[in-house]
Amino acid sequence: MPTFVSPQKCRGCMQCVDICPSDIMHIDPDRGRAYNLEPAMCWECYACVKACPEGAIDVRGYADFAPLGHRVVPNRTTDRIFWTIQLRGGGTRQFDFPIRRTRWGTIPSPASAPAPAPGDLGSELLAFEPDYLAVDALPSPGAPAPRPL
Ligand code: SF4
Ligand code: SF4
Repeated sequence: MPTFVSPQKCRGCMQCVDICPSDIMHIDPDRGRAYNLEPAMCWECYACVKACPEGAIDVRGYADFAPLGHRVVPNRTTDRIFWTIQLRGGGTRQFDFPIRRTRWGTIPSPASAPAPAPGDLGSELLAFEPDYLAVDALPSPGAPAPRPL
């Protein structure tokens, strides 16, 4: 279910733009509001839903299982999202889902990490691996399984 922005709630803070891994959240230069410019390319990761401080991002279900007339409305808190599903027949379903195991605001910004060494671009490791995976080394063919730190 791709996302869409409610322009009445959006204040153009760009948090969804910064966090979208698919780079499809953009700011309309005329209105100063965000919009999903290519819903078909949405990963449906809902990082933007979690990041939006205004609760301005809703989710639109595909027509094959959620025909016209429905709404899927996420409402974020600091540790969960409450989903409200409004069925086209008028009924409502609600459920909530935890979204994080770390305390709100405690994840350090990537900007606080040390700069990569010049040779790191030639490494197969991604940024912060293996530290952020909490292992002493990544698995490789024939090597023993990594030990948790
Ligand atoms: S759900 Fe994920 S991929 Fe889709 S617009 Fe939001 S951040 Fe981008
Ligand atoms: S994070 Fe929310 S308020 Fe900020 S630009 Fe995106 S939709 Fe608008």
